[in-house]
Amino acid sequence: MRLVVASGKGGTGKTTVATSLALVAGDAVRFLDCDVEAPNAALFLAPKLETRKEVGIQLPVVDEALCTHCGRCAEVCEFHAIAVIGKKTLIFPELCHGCGSCTLICPEKAISERLDVMGVLEGGFTSEGIDFAQGVMNVGEPMAVPILRELKKWKPMSLRAALSGAVFSEVEGRRSNLPGNNVASGENAPRNDIEIRDSPPGASCPVVETMRGSDFILLVTEPTPFGLHDLKQVVGITRELGIPSGVIINRDGIGNNAVETYCAETGLPVLMRIPMERRFAEGIAQGKTLIQVEPEYTRQFRHILMQIADMLARQS
Ligand code: SF4
Ligand code: SF4
Repeated sequence: MRLVVASGKGGTGKTTVATSLALVAGDAVRFLDCDVEAPNAALFLAPKLETRKEVGIQLPVVDEALCTHCGRCAEVCEFHAIAVIGKKTLIFPELCHGCGSCTLICPEKAISERLDVMGVLEGGFTSEGIDFAQGVMNVGEPMAVPILRELKKWKPMSLRAALSGAVFSEVEGRRSNLPGNNVASGENAPRNDIEIRDSPPGASCPVVETMRGSDFILLVTEPTPFGLHDLKQVVGITRELGIPSGVIINRDGIGNNAVETYCAETGLPVLMRIPMERRFAEGIAQGKTLIQVEPEYTRQFRHILMQIADMLARQS
């Protein structure tokens, strides 16, 4: 089960929800911090980050000695990142998406590629056994999507099979029925079968890339006019992608009922309401997760995972 926790804007409580969900899922979970411009889930989950990998895109490099300036590379580039001007073939790295089309089409084999490093992936386990990975984008990089693509498929360590400890057994029992879940069943099956992606905020390309290939999207919002405005934008993306979603209302009690009304009218289930309480804000500011501040939420977050598993099982 691949679950994205998203919100239309930053500071809504997305990481608060994602990290507590990861802790209740225990050692069955893989956690991806996809907020590559400002990853902060590690502050709460405290993984031991032992593995590191540089990532980026393959930039074309033209060998002018081989190039005949035929212009076919410039014709195939839909991003206008390569141009032939007279006897010069120019690359514009800031426009290049590293798709490789120019390299493939060049009849003279005049184009080679080099890795343009855009950031790093870091991975490791938390003391609870959570398989944690995050992307960290270099300052000033214009594109987060290539880093996210690499993060989603990165498996730095073998999955730990048959871990001990508390596992979300109800969900585990249903995993073979979940869409997109091909894990084997049985005693020695990998337990790393819930993936939680902490999305970047907003409604732009990195958010779409984070959601792509997921099974369910949890949308964290707050009951204010701004919260509703941003929620609508991100709901639009989930519907374009055809991925089911549900809502968690954070800071419940402030604002008005417009978010609840919108959810009721559009058939979006409200799966949880987290009240506005000063002790929550203080605990989170100290690096504590919500379930560490209020253990009562453990049961509620487990219930959310059960509800999502049920919804997905009904759809399959
Ligand atoms: S396709 Fe190859 S030969 Fe033609 S202009 Fe581009 S680099 Fe030069
Ligand atoms: S790799 Fe793709 S985006 Fe970059 S210059 Fe070549 S065709 Fe254009």
